Amino acid sequence: MIDFQGLNKWFGSALHVLNDINLHVEKGEVVVVCGPSGSGKSTLIRCVNGLEPFQSGKLLVDGFDLGGKPSLLRKLRMEIGFVFQQFNLYPHKTALENVTLAPIHVRGLSKAEADARGREILTKVGLADRMQNYPGQLSGGQQQRVAIARSLCMQPRVMLFDEPTSALDPEMINEVLDVMVGLAKEGMTMIVVTHEMGFARKVADRVVFMDQGMIIESGEPESFFNNPQNERTRDFLSKIL
Ligand code: ADP
Ligand code: MG
Repeated sequence: MIDFQGLNKWFGSALHVLNDINLHVEKGEVVVVCGPSGSGKSTLIRCVNGLEPFQSGKLLVDGFDLGGKPSLLRKLRMEIGFVFQQFNLYPHKTALENVTLAPIHVRGLSKAEADARGREILTKVGLADRMQNYPGQLSGGQQQRVAIARSLCMQPRVMLFDEPTSALDPEMINEVLDVMVGLAKEGMTMIVVTHEMGFARKVADRVVFMDQGMIIESGEPESFFNNPQNERTRDFLSKIL
């Protein structure tokens, strides 16, 4: 579903932000990406939906060549859900309106079809009684679940998460992670940048550790956490676990 082949990206001439990235994600796999701040995690996943151009190597997403025609990017982006640390909901639209906008305006669903889908998905993320609320009337955890629902309403083939719980108060983290665990178990293909290692242990097929633009180590959670091979991985894990 996602295939990085020797991908390199620089910001300007000095910053080699992605250094020979090779990463292969099968349909239905969940890959967790961790690493220190500034290691290139966000840039890596932003490449997957074409938000970041790159200078060399190859990136294939769902058979689509990201080095190819920019005109096809719009089409690809419809198939990829992206959830950020900041929820970026429309403040003057209700939860239901937030999740139905794109299905109506981008996918061309009728309002009735979009409403039905939106209600179903908001119910699935535990917000059946919050559909008519505005973002300002919702907690951070509820807003992030609306943001996830908004992506799901587009019926994406891949979901990307960039530190989705980092801006949340601790007591709200689990309600968001639970939704993500549910998605993973349903077979969604996901790349998740997070330092929530409990989540990684529970659902990741693979954990990837990045430092200074490179994938330093990757493995199944069991071996990654219990027996990290690289000194930098061990050092990082000792700081966050
Ligand atoms: P992470 O998500 O792991 O914290 P990022 O991918 O956000 O790392 O950033 C990796 C490096 O690239 C950092 O040094 C950051 O300052 C730099 N960077 C990110 N975006 C840009 C940009 N648009 N222009 C120049 N440098 C950038
Ligand atoms: Mg980041």
